[in-house]
Amino acid sequence: MPTVTKTALVAGRACDLRAYRGLIKGDRWSAAPPPPTGILVEYRARHLAVSRVHRLWQRGGVLDAAALPDVWADAWRRSGGDDPPPPPEWLTWYTADNPFHLGVERQIVACEETLRGVALGRSWSARPDLLCIDRVGDGAIEALELSSARTPTLDKVAVEQMAAIDLLVLTRSPAYALLPHRILVCGLETGRLYDVTPSRDHARDILHGIDAYLKDIEARGCAWDEGGDTALGRALATPSPDACGRCAYRGDCAYAWPSIGDGRDGADAAGGAAHDGWSPDGTYLTGTARGR
Ligand code: SF4
Repeated sequence: MPTVTKTALVAGRACDLRAYRGLIKGDRWSAAPPPPTGILVEYRARHLAVSRVHRLWQRGGVLDAAALPDVWADAWRRSGGDDPPPPPEWLTWYTADNPFHLGVERQIVACEETLRGVALGRSWSARPDLLCIDRVGDGAIEALELSSARTPTLDKVAVEQMAAIDLLVLTRSPAYALLPHRILVCGLETGRLYDVTPSRDHARDILHGIDAYLKDIEARGCAWDEGGDTALGRALATPSPDACGRCAYRGDCAYAWPSIGDGRDGADAAGGAAHDGWSPDGTYLTGTARGR
């Protein structure tokens, strides 16, 4: 039984074919997605750097401010950033201000611990960035999800699904089931906290909604698998420059943008030349390169 995760749900949302292969069939992706560029490098570097800081704080360690430039430079390079790394100003601010009061009001009990639970005949899994105990309030176990987005709760669907899955796995966990639960989104950019804990009823509705969505994809995908019908595959696939450009299936996907000439894929209405896009071997080709 493939496991439902918030990451797979978000990844699958752009294309029903991708959702079918990842969420229903549990395919292992055949190739790594393209490396991050631009602002995504900085986002990944932030997450890597704070992950090291949080693990130190969890052990009760004291951070040596003089080590921060090296921590930041290492995270930057491992995230694919070019030399020289930008100044570590953000990490200096984050560690000095400790905006989420980690190790003080919130005791870190786990970093990126994978939690699982079964519901509605499916296996669900979540790996919150941090699990903390509220030491000054009601003693709740808090799942903290870090976000580099400027407005971390803008994608309401993704946030609600994430919160419902987090709540489910916390309530199924032998270690945490009996405590009060809280789901928090932490804006790394601003240091703001957003309490997105759903009520039990709301979480149940969201999980039922995900289950119905998966059943629909499952029915259409199985018909395509059994029939091998191109029309069914085309109906399932939702190619676009953005979806296919970030999809690890694009190397062996017959429907990857810009290969379908029906107007959804960058081709013009008359079936003419496609716009710039990803080729099946993962190279980004311009119209000129493609012989237009
Ligand atoms: S390559 Fe494009 S059409 Fe194919 S599965 Fe991925 S996102 Fe969907």
